[in-house]
Amino acid sequence: MRVLVIGAGIGGLTLAQGLRREGVDVVVYERDGPDGRPQGISLHLDDRGTTALRACLPPSHAEMVAATTGGPREQALTLSEVDGELAVAGARPLDGPARPGRQTHRPLLRAVLLTGLADVVRFGARFTRCERQPGGTVKVWFADGRTDTADVLVGADGIGSAVRGARLPDVRVVDTGRRMLMGATPLRVVAGTGLPGLIGDSATRVESGGRTMVLGVLRFTRPPSVARRELLPAMDSRVAAEAEDYVMWALPTEQHRLASAGSPAGLWRAAGELAAGMHPTLRLIVASGWPEVTAGLRIGTIPAMPAWPPGPVTLLGTRSTWRRASEGTWRCGTPTASATPC
Ligand SMILES: Cc1cc2nc3c(=O)[nH]c(=O)nc-3n(C[C@H](O)[C@H](O)[C@H](O)COP(=O)(O)OP(=O)(O)OC[C@H]3O[C@@H](n4cnc5c(N)ncnc54)[C@H](O)[C@@H]3O)c2cc1C
Repeated sequence: MRVLVIGAGIGGLTLAQGLRREGVDVVVYERDGPDGRPQGISLHLDDRGTTALRACLPPSHAEMVAATTGGPREQALTLSEVDGELAVAGARPLDGPARPGRQTHRPLLRAVLLTGLADVVRFGARFTRCERQPGGTVKVWFADGRTDTADVLVGADGIGSAVRGARLPDVRVVDTGRRMLMGATPLRVVAGTGLPGLIGDSATRVESGGRTMVLGVLRFTRPPSVARRELLPAMDSRVAAEAEDYVMWALPTEQHRLASAGSPAGLWRAAGELAAGMHPTLRLIVASGWPEVTAGLRIGTIPAMPAWPPGPVTLLGTRSTWRRASEGTWRCGTPTASATPC
């Protein structure tokens, strides 16, 4: 069996690793180049994510992910200002939809997932349309004129999926109206403030100066370079060498701030303006952030949909809900007209 996966994000690459492990012939087509584009810096990996990675990845890859997460995250904290100091105002266990887990460094996770797939991932290939062939296979077209044919096509191309646009043209992303600025700051900058000790590995919401900031500290359980050398030497050494402990931060914001900010550096400046009335430690966190990793998010959702009929074209992660603000409109990919649509 031959499978085409559209999208080399964390979903598509995990699937490709799993198929390869089972001996299935798989090719991944990715719109971007090998370095991709900024997609946020951290992910919360809960038991379902860990189980999926263990099921799909070679053991050494799964070990590399496990060795380079943060510490166990079992509760969510709320902090507020008391007499000018940040203090814990509330704590609740992560036992609802948000489950216990660990903070994961996204670029490192992606580098692990790419390891061993060099002969399988084709970069710079934007899917445009597909068509079912008389023998039951699916033919796929790319923007640069390339085509390919397979028994199964999987759309793992994110919230704006063009494959979903072709397969389920009526499905639309609904804008929740929520916007977020996200960034990260080296932990060493705030090490002396007492904040990292206060929040530990917890997911944390801080209320200060009439605004909210979400924080998460990632202290790698093992230095990524050491873990790479011992567990996965084939992995890109650059990503491991560049990784250092950090604080991830997020600020809920309004659409107009994202619209006018433009570049990551512009988004970082906008975050600084938002944090201007907050506690000095929170201002320091934003002011010392890495401008180039700052991202603006529009948060959307796809309403629950009935199961689609079985066929050779399917979707992965179709209910993922976050999208970079820079990606333009919310519309799903434009459905394409074809003799036998997929
Ligand atoms: C800035 C940012 C920060 C985030 N932070 C968090 C977080 O802290 N915690 C969390 O749980 N989630 C977070 N998310 C959400 C999380 O990233 C998504 O849920 C997750 O990435 C979905 O994985 P995926 O593989 O399904 O899709 P994606 O990661 O979106 O990957 C889709 C891939 O498909 C490619 N692609 C798209 N269209 C085409 C095409 N036509 N042809 C070929 N390739 C195509 C894209 O380039 C991309 O590489 C964040 C998202 C963003 C954008």
